[in-house]
Amino acid sequence: MISNNPEQFASDNYSGICPEALEYTLQANSGSVPAYGNDEWTQRATDYFRDLFEIDCEVFFVFNGTAANSLALASLCQSYHSVVCHETAHVETDECGAPEFFSNGSKLLIAKGENGKLTPASIEAIVHKRNDIHYPKPKVISLTQTTEVGTLYSIDELVAIHEVAKQHQFKVHMDGARFANAVAAMERSPAEITWKSGVDVLCFCGTKNGMAMGEAILFFDKTLAEDFSYRCKQAGQLASKMRFISAPWLGLLETGAWLNNARHANRCATYLEERLLAIAHVELLFPRQANAVFIKLPEATLQHLQQKGWQFYTFIGVGGARFMCSWNTTQERIDELVADVKGAIEHTVN
Ligand SMILES: *Cc1c(COP(=O)(O)O)cnc(C)c1O
Repeated sequence: MISNNPEQFASDNYSGICPEALEYTLQANSGSVPAYGNDEWTQRATDYFRDLFEIDCEVFFVFNGTAANSLALASLCQSYHSVVCHETAHVETDECGAPEFFSNGSKLLIAKGENGKLTPASIEAIVHKRNDIHYPKPKVISLTQTTEVGTLYSIDELVAIHEVAKQHQFKVHMDGARFANAVAAMERSPAEITWKSGVDVLCFCGTKNGMAMGEAILFFDKTLAEDFSYRCKQAGQLASKMRFISAPWLGLLETGAWLNNARHANRCATYLEERLLAIAHVELLFPRQANAVFIKLPEATLQHLQQKGWQFYTFIGVGGARFMCSWNTTQERIDELVADVKGAIEHTVN
């Protein structure tokens, strides 16, 4: 038996399957149904996405976020094209070159910008850097919502980026690893944050929202999805027992758990931020806008916390800790963490 593991703050993919996703998985586990997505669960989940996003979009399901992003980007690019993304973008730093691999070489062009966000100016700077035949032609802008540092693109910021995209005939891809948290935090409709603000393709993550695995790729412009199912199959991303990705998705959507989970995680992060900031010497690294809290702490303090058994990411420079809240985060666990952060600081800072 594996012992009961206490909740951690390393990532929202440390959490298990939420009750609604599990319940629908169990319901789907009855009898024989057609394979490869030709089943009723997949039809219902797909239709639900169309209702939720208020548009007749094309919907595909894959196993994970790396595949969703890479295949979506590959479908928007020729091999001689390039994708503009932020320097902290998951597609750049955490996908082992998969976007370049699946696009047969489309290069990622890295832009800077405060708080993990691209701006029209940072995109223009890259676009105008060169326009000759020797430079991979920019074709796509890739945004992450919420960003890798837990911040949000506002509607105005999305629209401003869309203006640049229109001017240069770029497509806009959105990595929605924490898209539900963005919807919950912004209190705007999924449509407003995506296609109404110029997003062409959204990779909507189910895993971090409470599923065991599974991402939905939504093409708001259906013409961009031509032959996409073949691309998924060739990449090894066509689940034959598709119902076990689509049924839990339907569970999240139909019960409202997708938004409740995200709201809960965001509320937990709000509370965690408030409690941490009450401790002397604690400073935020980035504004907290959704379910992640980034704080600056000395290396010794971080090590002390790790020795106490806490798991968190420290990949954003030395001295920083990322605490990520999830659907299963509890106030008791936050209070324990905060008490240990306070203790660690007292122990290591003088
Ligand atoms: C978690 C995450 C993904 C998906 O990663 P996989 O491990 O491939 O599922 C994509 N983008 C961002 C920003 C993420 O945080």
